[in-house]
Amino acid sequence: MRTDGKMLKVVLFTGYACNNNCVFCIDADKRALPEKTTAQLLQEILKARNKGAEILEIIGGEATIRPDFDRLVAAAKKLGIPQVTCATNGRVFADPAAAARIVASGIDSVIFSVHGPDAAVHDALTCSPGSFVQLKKGLRNLRALGFGAIGGNTTVVKSNLAALPRLAEFYIKNRVANVEYIFVDPNYGGARNNFKALVPRISRAAPQMRRALALGRAAGLGQWKARYVPLCHFRGCLDQISETNERELFLTEHWAPDFKNADAIGSRAVVGRRKTARCRGCGLFAQCEGIWVEYLKHYGDSELKAVK
Ligand code: SF4
Repeated sequence: MRTDGKMLKVVLFTGYACNNNCVFCIDADKRALPEKTTAQLLQEILKARNKGAEILEIIGGEATIRPDFDRLVAAAKKLGIPQVTCATNGRVFADPAAAARIVASGIDSVIFSVHGPDAAVHDALTCSPGSFVQLKKGLRNLRALGFGAIGGNTTVVKSNLAALPRLAEFYIKNRVANVEYIFVDPNYGGARNNFKALVPRISRAAPQMRRALALGRAAGLGQWKARYVPLCHFRGCLDQISETNERELFLTEHWAPDFKNADAIGSRAVVGRRKTARCRGCGLFAQCEGIWVEYLKHYGDSELKAVK
């Protein structure tokens, strides 16, 4: 634990290669960058441990497609990093042998990215036919291995808005206790390149996100969260906002092939998101990060409403 009481979380990017091709991907313009080598990653894992990292999140692109993925996890666990996790599109876990190998490496939890409740919605967003079927197989394989620490995240875009309640039912049915509904980031990558096609108005997205959170609460899953949202649209569920939670708990560093960020949470609030003149006097000003800078360029700030 650090002196400020926060846990150090290192997000270790292996590279940007991926077996999906999600339309909104923040890394859409980075696919051709070279992957880190195994030696480089093992060195970084050691460095993370020596810095006192309590959580190591290994991500890509899609980190699980690397042949050395389980070796990296095993190395982190052997070094004593308490929590090793990965965000994944889940497809590799469809192979029972790969799922068993990764579980045996000692990974503590995995977060499945699910962008729709069925193949029609999910595969249209991943641009990868069969990706939803594989993801479901991956979930089943992990459950069959007795591995229960499975979270979920969903990027909220125009085309899956209507399906969010059905997706919530999917998570409930699959007993996914920790889910994040992430309002798409248009500052970089696919959503920046195709803003109009992908990015919904927050006033359209928020009710559906709130509906999904309410379904989770009704099923006893009150720890589901919304991420990257202006708080005036989430007044009824302020205890379910990822940013508030993570600011209190973590200092997060990002170690990517092309950049290093020693305070990913702080810099997102300062550079990536913005509050505007409409926020003046808002009772939630201190805890709110506002909305994406790129969003304001396209849609303006008329949907922001200072909370009394
Ligand atoms: S008005 Fe501004 S500060 Fe207040 S909740 Fe909305 S976005 Fe946040």
